[in-house]
Amino acid sequence: MAEKRYPQCARCPTRACENRGCKLSEGPPSLKKLPGFCPMKLMPEVFAQAAAEYDKPAVREFARLASVQEFQCFERLPDGLRAKLSRVEELIQFARKCNHKKLGIAHCGGFIGEAAILTNILENNGFRVVSVQCKAGAVPKEAIGIQAEEKIAGSENWETMCNPVAQAMIINQAKVDLAIMLGLCIGHDTLFIKYCDVPLTVLAVKDRLLGHNPLVALYLSESYYGRLKNKID
Ligand code: SF4
Repeated sequence: MAEKRYPQCARCPTRACENRGCKLSEGPPSLKKLPGFCPMKLMPEVFAQAAAEYDKPAVREFARLASVQEFQCFERLPDGLRAKLSRVEELIQFARKCNHKKLGIAHCGGFIGEAAILTNILENNGFRVVSVQCKAGAVPKEAIGIQAEEKIAGSENWETMCNPVAQAMIINQAKVDLAIMLGLCIGHDTLFIKYCDVPLTVLAVKDRLLGHNPLVALYLSESYYGRLKNKID
């Protein structure tokens, strides 16, 4: 039996959904241009369901503001479009657009300096800023079954576990308008997202080797990070 197809936009040869260079009056792209694994072909009902969500005024307005923000990240110069805003600037502009007053930073202990800088920047722009770091709660790693030999600080030493569930609960209770993730580890970020009940955005993810820019490994995967083509242990 043939394997069921599943969406694979990452391998699309046409990107027909972008309809680049076409006039609005020409309408959407022809279905003939879509590859067989295109979600528009495989799951057309989902796009109808999503459209119904955008009919809800709050969702529609949020989506509209996000697209306005996207637009404002560019300037049109004689030689073409140029990006002009850093993500920190975007964060401030978008939070203002959404009329957010109180922001909550969930940061890694290793990012306390960055969290302090970000707090100052956000406060200077008129926001109230709550912050909570991952080690809050001072719970030893033994509480989640970590073995002595699995502790970074060494088997004899206390090591506080990252506590993304508590971080999320504190951010929720503080009733912030927007949570900002700053440098949480893989997996800890997943738990934070699962337990966070307020709107959430990401300023940075952790990459201990690459200056918190994991895409560097992809950009160098044809050269210095060629090892990524091998199976990773
Ligand atoms: S939605 Fe369809 S056309 Fe667009 S990138 Fe994905 S596979 Fe390609």
